[in-house]
Amino acid sequence: MFFAKTLDYFAAMWDNVIWIIMQWGIYMRKTDTTIKYVEPDSIAFEAGIEAGDKLIKINGHDFHDILEYRYLTAEYEVTLEILKKDGSTEVITVENDYEDLGIEFAEGLIDEAQSCHNKCIFCFIDQLPKGMRETVYFKDDDTRLSFLQGNYVTLTNMSDEEIDRLIKMRVSPINVSVHATEPELRQMLLGNRFAGKCYSIMQKFAENGICMNCQIVLCPEINDGEHLKRTLYDLAALYPNVNSVSVVPVGLTRYREGLYQIKPFTKESSADTIEFVEKIQQDFLERLGTRLVYLSDEFYINAGVEIPQSDTYEGFPQLENGVGLIASMKEEFDSAIKFIKKKRRSRYVSVATGEISYDFIRGLADRIQNECGGVKIDVYAVKNDFFGGGVSVSGLVTGGDIIRQLKGIIKTDTLIIPHSMLRDNDNIFLDDVTVAEVEEALNVTIIPTYNDGYEFIEKILNEELDFGG
Ligand code: SF4
Repeated sequence: MFFAKTLDYFAAMWDNVIWIIMQWGIYMRKTDTTIKYVEPDSIAFEAGIEAGDKLIKINGHDFHDILEYRYLTAEYEVTLEILKKDGSTEVITVENDYEDLGIEFAEGLIDEAQSCHNKCIFCFIDQLPKGMRETVYFKDDDTRLSFLQGNYVTLTNMSDEEIDRLIKMRVSPINVSVHATEPELRQMLLGNRFAGKCYSIMQKFAENGICMNCQIVLCPEINDGEHLKRTLYDLAALYPNVNSVSVVPVGLTRYREGLYQIKPFTKESSADTIEFVEKIQQDFLERLGTRLVYLSDEFYINAGVEIPQSDTYEGFPQLENGVGLIASMKEEFDSAIKFIKKKRRSRYVSVATGEISYDFIRGLADRIQNECGGVKIDVYAVKNDFFGGGVSVSGLVTGGDIIRQLKGIIKTDTLIIPHSMLRDNDNIFLDDVTVAEVEEALNVTIIPTYNDGYEFIEKILNEELDFGG
């Protein structure tokens, strides 16, 4: 008894020590308020602020990150203390009419991006092959990036002060990787003893009017079934502050040696998940007036079940998270195809896509071919040898796999690819192979296209269509 109590005491002490170290790391983050760019004709430009100047204070206050900058400058009259490049200091008062001042900082966030403190059993970064660009391995978990770029955060590295600061600045919406609301299960999934507090933080956000979009990475026999049900009902209790919930299947590559054993979703388990979640969606629809939860396309494709109609996604609140991509593109395509002018064309192009999207894209290509005489479209499903495992989505197809699989096969001089395959200013694939290298190897011109039914038709036909305003 005494021994057990002593162990508990030391465990609690150790938790506190780790927590203090974490918070000290956050506190010690370096800030850099050097201005990188001033937009021509902006308020800052008119006030004589230049690239290379430093913004020192706003309305007499220090600021520590981009959120504080935005919060403090959201006033009609703003006083800026500037350290000029020549070392002099200027104090300028501007009227900003609640517009953006037109300043970009050398460090986008002003301080360093916060990294995650977790060891999730399903982490995709832990399953990457060695030798990729260093930036690919960075595990961010930063609420600022959630607000500014839509990244998902786990809320495991936030102090009470940081939570209060976000509430005070009304940072909303925040995208939260929930995975499970049962504290012990979440601690296990995230490999983090502090991960169990997530739901209470979310309750506090909800009480203070912060909106949240949530995501659940579903792992068969770990956080599905009754665990999933509990998570979804807990989140529904925070509606409307919990605005939407996506459920995505765990992504498994072939680089899982030494990692937690996780089963992939099968046709049967995908179908079971659809049935299970559809019942909950129906219940939410009756009680809340919204389905609230949406399954990613992979579940339907794996199960061989038709993708739901676009209206069931209720405005696609999780499209940026890849949920509802097919239904959204199909809806646009159905509308756009009516605007194709009846005339004979001469066009032969190829499209490369991930294995999972092949049937869908082939179906769209067939409809264009049927509609337009003289148009021929070859569609290629590129197998993901780079990541292996069950990875089949288009956004993770690499340039190397395209070259290896299409060299000597492709017959056209134009290759259309989904824009989601590209990184870093659109000119590089995930494996660091450049667009130019693929073009040279295959002797083609690559045309990236967004997940947009209108754009897809235009790129295929190489025509600007008149969609009637
Ligand atoms: S939060 Fe989890 S999944 Fe995300 S980067 Fe960190 S360890 Fe990986």
